[in-house]
Amino acid sequence: MSLTREELERYKRHTILPEIGVEGQQKIKNASVLIVGTGGLGSPIAMYLAASGVGHIGLIDFDVVDESNLQRQIIHKSGNVGISKTISAEATLKELNPYLKVSLFNMALTADNALDIIKQFDIVTDGTDNFATRYLVNDACVISGKVNVFGSIRQFEGQLSVFGTKEGPCYRCLFPEPPEPGTVPSCADAGVMGVLPGVIGTLQATEVIKQITGIGEPLTGRLLNYDALGMRFSEVKFMKDPDCPCCGDNPAITELIDYDAFCGTQQVLTADITASELKEMHMKNEAPFLVDVREPAELLQGEIKGALNIPMREVQVRMHEIPKEQTVVVYCHLGIRSAHVIEYLVKQGYTKLFNLTGGYDAWESLG
Ligand code: ZN
Repeated sequence: MSLTREELERYKRHTILPEIGVEGQQKIKNASVLIVGTGGLGSPIAMYLAASGVGHIGLIDFDVVDESNLQRQIIHKSGNVGISKTISAEATLKELNPYLKVSLFNMALTADNALDIIKQFDIVTDGTDNFATRYLVNDACVISGKVNVFGSIRQFEGQLSVFGTKEGPCYRCLFPEPPEPGTVPSCADAGVMGVLPGVIGTLQATEVIKQITGIGEPLTGRLLNYDALGMRFSEVKFMKDPDCPCCGDNPAITELIDYDAFCGTQQVLTADITASELKEMHMKNEAPFLVDVREPAELLQGEIKGALNIPMREVQVRMHEIPKEQTVVVYCHLGIRSAHVIEYLVKQGYTKLFNLTGGYDAWESLG
């Protein structure tokens, strides 16, 4: 569909750029972009692409808006806490630009649905926060012949590149192996400066617009690093690997695989107990045996009375201190490390273990 008079008015600052012009703006309108993840990176990507006039935006996310998202995920408003992220994001985008079509995928991207979803779009941009999904997005894009504009963030640092172009390398050419599970903490565990995804996501949106319009020099074969504390950008060049299992000359990966198994990040299934359930047990004097697996420095935040502190790294050698025949609740700061400890203990024959959902933070918030 051609640009309407109202749209030509709206995109005037684009169309007067000789590099874009009405022709380029028409390409932007005709384009469709899938944004994987509607969080810190997805927020500015989606908002700038919507404002720029991308005709069709796809949003995929399985999560709901949480209070702790609002420090950086600017597409979501305070009033939308508890609401599906895709629905919350769609409302903001429609308000920004009524001319666009938004498709929502209120689900996780998986090896089962990725190819079907990705084929509906011209370009993919990855704003996820875990390695399993990154490899999944990469492989699905290479198999489908789609460009993948990649970004990642942690604490004060961000990275950016463009993968999956015809001539250029892919994510696996750069990172053939995923890191050991647990060695790279997520933003939930390690923290992230709120402005950081704004910088990296905006750069991803820039690369998407350049891909659509074919202008400038794309960030292919280059990994851009951004250090917010030093306020420095640096760049590492890398090549397409002819032996890459995904985009190489004789690829071994011709269909999607089990990415959690590949990254060693299978979800840990534990029996859970909420902070309020635990508090109730305390009040009835039915308190279970408590194991706190946080580091000694983290105990400054506070402790649950009567808990035995065994930092995660000492669990193996101090396991004998945890009774096997009693109900045991394991907790950490947020409930992630404790889940891994429980997984380990179950393998050692423990059967009565519960993970405190949300960790000490959840307990503390009860007051
Ligand atoms: Zn490759």
